[in-house]
Amino acid sequence: MHNFIILIVEDEDAIREMLVVVLEQVSFTVHAVSNVEEAQHFLNNTLPDLILLDWMLPNISGVEWARRIRKEQIYQEIPIIMLTARGEEEDKMRGFGCGIDDYMIKPFSPRELVARLHAVLRRSSKHQWSPKIITGDLTLDTEQHRLTIGEQIVDVSPTEFRLMQFFMSHPDKVFTRTQLLDQVWGRSVYIEERTVDVHIRRLRKVLENYDREDLVQTVRGFGYRFSVNQ
Ligand code: CA
Repeated sequence: MHNFIILIVEDEDAIREMLVVVLEQVSFTVHAVSNVEEAQHFLNNTLPDLILLDWMLPNISGVEWARRIRKEQIYQEIPIIMLTARGEEEDKMRGFGCGIDDYMIKPFSPRELVARLHAVLRRSSKHQWSPKIITGDLTLDTEQHRLTIGEQIVDVSPTEFRLMQFFMSHPDKVFTRTQLLDQVWGRSVYIEERTVDVHIRRLRKVLENYDREDLVQTVRGFGYRFSVNQ
């Protein structure tokens, strides 16, 4: 399975921050911005798996932007979940339909949001959605938030879990520290590159208990690679 990248476009700081926390908890890679200009800038470099888009935004509204990106072929497949306020927006939303995969009326419960996100991602044609990533004798269950090696449950921290999720989704590929920061921590968080080394060291320490510290390999002068093959 793939490490899902979610783009959040929401101008209210409190809601945006809440969304980041909730989605990172369930191991999504999250990028959060507060307006359409920043969102467009992000899209120019990265194709997210889903966009969580607020209806009312400064300058260009979420609805207007959704219309625009739906006209461009490369963005047509990205599922969009719209966030709207109760009342007038909600009524318009029902009539809007075009290009929106689902919508949520504020305030909503984090649980419901996560359930809708999973449902939309499952439906989206791009992925064969599965909550489990299996590589060699390792299984990472994203729903139960559990990593196992053979029959043994591995005791990992949330960050180590996300690192493993990313690595297991991209076996045998080499990633730089910057790429790992972007993909595992998300670009909305400021962390120094050496923090990556610290977490890799901790992860290896955990894997050492299972004699598998060789799974995460250092590629000198470049970064790190995960591989079940020596
Ligand atoms: Ca708003």
